[in-house]
Amino acid sequence: MSRKLQAIRGMNDILPGQSSVWQYLEQTVSDVVSSYGYQQIRFPIVEHTELFKRGVGETTDIVEKEMYTFDDRNGESLTLRPEGTASCVRAADQAGLLFNQTQRLWYAGPMFRYERPQKGRYRQFHQIGVESFGMGSADIDAELIILSARLWKKLGLLEHVELQLNTIGVAAARESFKGALVDYLTEFKDQLDEDSQRRLSTNPLRILDSKDAKTQAVLENAPNLEDFIDEESQAHFERLQAILKANDVPYVINRSLVRGLDYYGRTVFEWVTTHLGAQATVCAGGRYDGLVEQLGGKPTPAVGFAMGIERLVLLLETLDLIPEAAKDSTEVFVVSLGDAAELQSFVVAEQLRDAQQGWTVLRHCGGGNFKKQIKKADNSGARFTLIIGEDEVVKGVCQIKDMQTGEQETCELGNVVSYLSEKLNG
Ligand code: ATP
Ligand code: MG
Repeated sequence: MSRKLQAIRGMNDILPGQSSVWQYLEQTVSDVVSSYGYQQIRFPIVEHTELFKRGVGETTDIVEKEMYTFDDRNGESLTLRPEGTASCVRAADQAGLLFNQTQRLWYAGPMFRYERPQKGRYRQFHQIGVESFGMGSADIDAELIILSARLWKKLGLLEHVELQLNTIGVAAARESFKGALVDYLTEFKDQLDEDSQRRLSTNPLRILDSKDAKTQAVLENAPNLEDFIDEESQAHFERLQAILKANDVPYVINRSLVRGLDYYGRTVFEWVTTHLGAQATVCAGGRYDGLVEQLGGKPTPAVGFAMGIERLVLLLETLDLIPEAAKDSTEVFVVSLGDAAELQSFVVAEQLRDAQQGWTVLRHCGGGNFKKQIKKADNSGARFTLIIGEDEVVKGVCQIKDMQTGEQETCELGNVVSYLSEKLNG
């Protein structure tokens, strides 16, 4: 026997039983975003490496050490997308959807990052992203956050997540802050953790994110980003907060929230939970007014966010928030004995599927005696079993067994649909 092959480390199969939870989540997101006028966009999983280098930023964790990059057969460098925003901008701009117009777009699908696999952190993971283009004022930032709050509410998660909010100002404000921060931190360089020492010259803002206690201690007396924020960004931030307050969306301001990616400016936010250990962020986003231009388009304001599906599924499971209706279920199991009854079983099963779109009707395949078949029906968890034998065919009837009570009744074949509709839909 040859050796069995395994999936790649950090890349998971989503098995039957789990997939219904994914479908429930994806359907709920799709319903919520379309109620705000967001339209789905789909783009390839592979792009030119250059797109992410320029879009995400050379000094980010993603580009520095997390990308799946390989040479195509003609020597071109390609990369499995590590996130969706850069691709979304590339696709929308290429199609001429960005210049002089507004767009509300969303996408869903797998992303790839070479990270250390652990609970809530994988090498292939899935995101749903929501992006808006052409709108520079704080009302669209607020709309996106209110949309996400509606989603958490619909999923029963609102009380289990916290909105953290910050403004990181315009590029010039961040540049002068960076200067001040680097001046200050250089004095204490030997007290910083290794990553932070490296970031001092590559991406100093990320040092604020450091989990290292010694680094955090040094940061206590560091200059505050808050003091460098330009007036317009401050006004933008205040308007955003006013709209959130008017809509009863609670938030906390987290001054050290800077986000890992280069393209953010002004608003940044994260929805975090205390239920998933270190992988606490289930949704993250912000404003990225410079990105479209950075990727070769016309200057276009933009704001968006992405949520991690695996973490949301974990959270729904941990909190036992998956509704019964979202789980796979079998309404009717059909069994038959003999050739004529088998043909009749197809007819009835098709009639039931015609009449009730939401039902799962399972026909037993492959024959066998009634005892064996009814055991299968039992194992399927079906609510009702429909039994057709040779006698029943002759009489034009079937037996319908309620699998919860064990009661069995005879029903005319012409009445099966109305009989079961009555029982199952009340
Ligand atoms: P983290 O700080 O957890 O690494 P990030 O800042 O790298 O997150 P983003 O690039 O903003 O994450 O992606 C948005 C969301 O996608 C995250 O909040 C998270 O829910 C999810 N996500 C990111 N990386 C992974 C991963 N490797 N596995 C599973 N989910 C992920
Ligand atoms: Mg990360």
